[in-house]
Amino acid sequence: MKDETLAALTGLCAKCGTCRTVCTLYPERKAEIAVARGKVALLEAAMNGEDPDADSVQEALTDCLLCGRCERACPNQVLVEEIVMKGRADLAEEVGIPAWKSILFGKVMASPGATAAARKAAAAGERLLLPKVPTGSGLHYRFPEGLGGKGRTVPELPARGFLESLGRKEAASGEVMLFVGCVFDHVFPQVGRAAYETVKASGKSVAVFRDAACCGLPAMVSGDRRSAMACAEGNLRRLRSAEPATIVFPCGSCLLMFRRNLLSLVPQGVPLHEDALWVADRSTDYASFLLASGVVGRLPDPPAGEKAGEIGYHDPCHLSGTLGKGPEAREVLRRAAGDAFAEMEGADRCCGYGGTFNVRDYRTSARIGEGKVSLAARGGTKVISTACSGCVLQMRDMAARVDPSLRVVHIAELVAQALARGEGTAPRR
Ligand code: SF4
Ligand code: SF4
Repeated sequence: MKDETLAALTGLCAKCGTCRTVCTLYPERKAEIAVARGKVALLEAAMNGEDPDADSVQEALTDCLLCGRCERACPNQVLVEEIVMKGRADLAEEVGIPAWKSILFGKVMASPGATAAARKAAAAGERLLLPKVPTGSGLHYRFPEGLGGKGRTVPELPARGFLESLGRKEAASGEVMLFVGCVFDHVFPQVGRAAYETVKASGKSVAVFRDAACCGLPAMVSGDRRSAMACAEGNLRRLRSAEPATIVFPCGSCLLMFRRNLLSLVPQGVPLHEDALWVADRSTDYASFLLASGVVGRLPDPPAGEKAGEIGYHDPCHLSGTLGKGPEAREVLRRAAGDAFAEMEGADRCCGYGGTFNVRDYRTSARIGEGKVSLAARGGTKVISTACSGCVLQMRDMAARVDPSLRVVHIAELVAQALARGEGTAPRR
């Protein structure tokens, strides 16, 4: 394993061990290899030819939530997330990507039509195979133990995605472009709708990015840079030709992909780099857009004292941690929900999702997530709001395990409710 860029990145590590004190995974594993310092040491050994065992390097790199807590605490600004992703990509070049992953990332998620067809097939499979359970966040299906579910619940998939619910000419062009993302289009279309209606309340012309492929983050974090490029190429070209002034992302992980990770996927010298820079400069999170465009200032006064302290906010690692966008969502919530919003116990603790980590080691992912959600519930939170699709997926599942009366929502749903209160109507579903 030889990689000069990776060697330069790992070379910044002073082996001080600060990362161990904050690592989300260390309390679970109690092993040095779980933390950034252990991963860096193993990578260095592999690059120096001292320990060329690809399996152990792969295991160490895969066993990470990419929550970024280590990176933010590191006194040497070691780019741990970049190291882990780069290491995974190098190994993928050496040993390959499992066929099911390259089909999912490179063929299904890179194609809007194939993603919609996959959702329809999965929805039919759910109805035929899985038992239903009611939860505070709506109906879920429970995976039987025999199917490898380990108690996992999954949301009831809708018959129509958000984009399919738009009229043919609706939201076709505008100065603001809404990048809904796969999950808020196909799994929780009510979030896509709430984001659209509330962004429209800015009074600006709003387009919805209809022929969007996946942002490419699942492929990128799995080391499948070829599939990530397949997603990026179409997205960047179509966004550039639409020429929006602003691109709004309701999902913090999609935003991270466009603000930071794409610039590493298409670095300087690669033809798409200039397009990636152009798009990154115009990309913003949902709450910042609502504040800057005046939507929040126009919300009606929230009811005083109603359900005081029942709504909390979960900080998505990518959005609040890596991109530093935590205060904006709180400002939006204070205005939309008033006294009902209060700081939640453990707000900045990782939910344990970690994308493919949740599939690879559901038991550990669930232990971390249950701890997070239980802490919030014990502190009196009844509604957990957030702004990332992975966090919504994970915490709805965790709420079903811990306390089925707990609700998990996107902040856009609460803003849509506040707007509807001002207009005296219920939000459109
Ligand atoms: S905190 Fe940073 S410098 Fe210290 S061991 Fe961890 S990665 Fe290396
Ligand atoms: S990204 Fe998170 S899970 Fe991975 S090593 Fe850093 S703190 Fe631990």
